[in-house]
Amino acid sequence: MKRRPVQIAALLLLLLATVAAAQDLASFEKRITVKKLSNGLTILICERPEAPVFSFFTLVDAGSAQDPIRATGLAHMFEHMAFKGTDKIGTTDYAAEKPALEKVETAYAAYIAERDKTVGRDEAKLKQLEKAWKDATAAADKFVVGNEFAKIIERNGGTGLNAFTSYDETGYHYSLPENRLELWAYLESERFLHPVLREFYKERDVVIEERRLRTDSNPIGRLWSSSTNRPSPHIPTIARPWAGCRT
Ligand SMILES: [Zn+2]
Repeated sequence: MKRRPVQIAALLLLLLATVAAAQDLASFEKRITVKKLSNGLTILICERPEAPVFSFFTLVDAGSAQDPIRATGLAHMFEHMAFKGTDKIGTTDYAAEKPALEKVETAYAAYIAERDKTVGRDEAKLKQLEKAWKDATAAADKFVVGNEFAKIIERNGGTGLNAFTSYDETGYHYSLPENRLELWAYLESERFLHPVLREFYKERDVVIEERRLRTDSNPIGRLWSSSTNRPSPHIPTIARPWAGCRT
């Protein structure tokens, strides 16, 4: 059969791709530089100087398999919370926000203590405590600069900002122009060293919704979740969620 030019071109491309892939793997391995910092962070660098950008992938060696039995979903929660900013990012006034956030926790603990009473729960008191928690949350939210962490990255030309949680790992990634390396180092360091867990309960609802979407409403998700017989990623069946925010 006579092949048409398009088919030949496609075959050539396939052949070239196969050869290129083999060459790439070898050259890729040669181009990897490994550096271990004094803080324990291992950095693998692969230089590809085709474009003046850098992409990174921060791998945290922990995932849903490390979740405490009665607080599953915790690894996934922290993945989300690492976007909420720090004592300097995401707030209009951290000195005032800090005590406001502490009040939210105190109010939530009081609400949950009453809600989870197996005997003698006072419904009127429960309503009052729930309102106190919601009021405290609204007061703390006044200091929030929404999504500031992501906005800083966007303003500096960043793309592909995202993260994921799996059984044994949590990953964070985005790309920035090469002259923003120092900014990247600052942001990645601060989000893990000084995270502020603002908007915690709002974000918990997001995580719970993701569980409904990806697991409870998905046949494959349900099959995988039950067949592995262990906490699934993206599954926040948090029995005492406030405990998570204190650990
Ligand atoms: Zn998520």
